[in-house]
Amino acid sequence: MGDAQLMRYARHILLDELGIEGQERLLAASVLIVGAGGLGSPAAAYLAAAGVGRLVLADDDVVELSNLQRQILHTTARIGTAKAESGREALLAINPEIEVQALVERLDDARLLELVGDADLVLDCCDNFATRHAVNRACVALRVPLVSGAAIRYSGQVSVYDLRRDDVPCYHCLFPEADDVQELRCATTGVLGPLVGMVGSVQAAEAIKLLAGMGEPLVGRLLSVDALSMQWHAIRFRRDPGCPVCGHRAPMSAADPAR
Ligand SMILES: [Zn+2]
Repeated sequence: MGDAQLMRYARHILLDELGIEGQERLLAASVLIVGAGGLGSPAAAYLAAAGVGRLVLADDDVVELSNLQRQILHTTARIGTAKAESGREALLAINPEIEVQALVERLDDARLLELVGDADLVLDCCDNFATRHAVNRACVALRVPLVSGAAIRYSGQVSVYDLRRDDVPCYHCLFPEADDVQELRCATTGVLGPLVGMVGSVQAAEAIKLLAGMGEPLVGRLLSVDALSMQWHAIRFRRDPGCPVCGHRAPMSAADPAR
């Protein structure tokens, strides 16, 4: 690390648990961020600022006026630009020392496997169940840790699925895929702008912890927030031994999966 890097990351390096070693891990890390909207904006911004060496930002949408109330990577001037490209521009303006790859595409299963295989960690910042489950399947198959967030109206949720471990649940264990799930979309129901910032920031914090190898990850716990009352709750959940996505992994160990 040169002098400029030591200065740029000084406030992280000063943290005992992170230090030079943790910062070097961040610089060497590659993270796939699925979605450059409300959650992806703050999450990606903090990871770029923290010096995560390579960010792959995937989104097939373009920036619209109605996004700007909460999707803080984007600007009025970039309305009509692809979100992935707009996000790349914003991230490199924060930190030109990192590599940012913008993918203007909807990721199918095969493409996800390819991209997840190249990543040390995945942030699910998308807005629909089909993509969430597809991202989870790829992360389970390749044993890549997944940090998943969601937000609608005033309620947000975030959890970490460290799929390198045998004893932890996957996203499907907690939210089984069902045909009859009513999907709420921000476009029709609304969402409080700073709520996506709160959830996206928790995702970034968990990603930094996992990459730097510090602290206690939010594994086997679902953290929920209701912004209207500003109450935060964490509930513990376990691996579903009958889960069709992760159930074929090694048998559950006797250890408590919700550490
Ligand atoms: Zn599972």
